[in-house]
Amino acid sequence: MTRTRKTPTRTCVGCGRAGDKRSFVRIVRTPDGHIEVDPTAKANGRGAYVCAGIECYDEAAARRRFDSALRVRLQDDDLDRLRRDIEALLSKQAASRQGR
Ligand SMILES: [Zn+2]
Repeated sequence: MTRTRKTPTRTCVGCGRAGDKRSFVRIVRTPDGHIEVDPTAKANGRGAYVCAGIECYDEAAARRRFDSALRVRLQDDDLDRLRRDIEALLSKQAASRQGR
């Protein structure tokens, strides 16, 4: 039996749930070492994924999961900045779903 995989799956570094790539938010370590939210999920660099909800980000941040996933040592400033960026992204996504 062959399984067809149309969409790649990813695993949340917060809760460990695996699922469709599109239902996750990607955090990327860019080639020049910056850590950023990657709304397109296509940026170059090592990525880590969390579910599209701030709870999983908080969980992953509290447990320092990004450090091992991205092989960096994130400072509190970075974590605060990423959290704001993710919140902004999530509210933008929610708005675009409502305004079809
Ligand atoms: Zn999750």
